Amino acid sequence: MLVLKFGGTSVGSADRMQEVIDIIEKNPGQQLVVLSAMSGTTNDLQQIANTIKNKEPDLASDLIAQLESKYVRVLTDLYPYKDVRDRARFLLRPSIRLIKDKLESSSFCPVDEKEILAQGEIMSTALFTLLCEVRQINVAQVRALDFIHTDQNGEPDFARIRQDLTRLLIPLEEVQVIVTQGYICKNHSGQIDNLKRGGSDYTATIIGSAIDADEIRIWTDIDGVRTNDPRIVNDTLPIRKLSYREAAELAYFGAKILHPTCVLPAEKANVPLRLKCTMSPDSPGTLISRETSKRPITAIAAKDNITAIKVYSHRMLQAYGFLRKVFQVFEDHKTSVDMITTSEVAVSLTIDDVRNLPDIVDGLSKFAEVESDTSYSIICIVGNALYDESQHVHRIFESLQEIPVRMVSMGGSRNNISLLVKTEYKVNVMRALNHLFITSGEEVYA
Ligand code: ASP
Ligand code: MG
Repeated sequence: MLVLKFGGTSVGSADRMQEVIDIIEKNPGQQLVVLSAMSGTTNDLQQIANTIKNKEPDLASDLIAQLESKYVRVLTDLYPYKDVRDRARFLLRPSIRLIKDKLESSSFCPVDEKEILAQGEIMSTALFTLLCEVRQINVAQVRALDFIHTDQNGEPDFARIRQDLTRLLIPLEEVQVIVTQGYICKNHSGQIDNLKRGGSDYTATIIGSAIDADEIRIWTDIDGVRTNDPRIVNDTLPIRKLSYREAAELAYFGAKILHPTCVLPAEKANVPLRLKCTMSPDSPGTLISRETSKRPITAIAAKDNITAIKVYSHRMLQAYGFLRKVFQVFEDHKTSVDMITTSEVAVSLTIDDVRNLPDIVDGLSKFAEVESDTSYSIICIVGNALYDESQHVHRIFESLQEIPVRMVSMGGSRNNISLLVKTEYKVNVMRALNHLFITSGEEVYA
């Protein structure tokens, strides 16, 4: 079975939804289709939840009315016949009702917010399934809330997911297209929850690994991964093949094409993951698999809004246990560290989530001198054989002669070198590094 995932833009209008059906109609076998909410809807729902939370009922009620009329327009575009349109309106009614009820209820807690956010995917899949029926496709729906479970840590509970999904699919053996919601799930207490913004990719790879799919195809509006950020650098090249490891590094460090955690389930189950473009469906996209390309340098990506923290202490000299104390502070404040470099008397680290920065600085100050500084970017250089020949590392640093680099992290994995620079230098760094690819030529990436 194939697992296909279409993002918000791919189902963002009636025309785009029709194009998605054109794509799935071409696949002969059975397929499980994971959909995001229509583009903009999750943001709208978040805004509605925020206004209810902030006790701004008039504003919330305006926003709900706007959302409703947006969907009325979508229905007019999607279904020219009144009877079908009425059915669609009936399908959307529980979602609209739920949102209005939250506005009227006297209390509002985090679960209420999650329930509101879940309606985007519930509505997009309802409309899409109906459209498939109109186009006479043999279609059925399975509800993500019936089988995507997370555990106490908010991580997917793979054993339960596999068990429940397998059971749900048994009666659907003859159905060609099975539609489900991305992003949403039930947590270990059985409440509605989600896999965080952009989580539909994750849903697709969780499902792909649970059912041991032949391939997981993530459809977006970008034609696969490129060697560099095309918004910054002109002459980027398409990358047709990536290893899981390279893809994971790239997804995390800013190549906005994939949800960072979504590579893992595919890698574990060894299911190929292909990125495809709805605008040019015939293009091969990018295939992510176990196969390594042996390319020394594959791609460059950047991640902004990074804060650097320097922890300095003479007590670190020849002492053991110091790093444990440092990391304990980050653990206590539930903040993950991206880059780390050490010297004999100092450790430098970076974080991107600064919500608990004041507490972290307080905690570290109890045993060390601490400096923190914002407005950095991590430039991530990814490749399969970065260290096989010294010339690659040499070429990277040679191209950075003019740039003040604050931190360098290399050797952590075979696939990555990370540089920390002030964000004002990011564009220069990305452009300077781009020439590393020019000599390699297009065919290398085919
Ligand atoms: N609808 C959710 C979001 O906008 C999930 C997704 O699209 O992947 O973040
Ligand atoms: Mg997305």
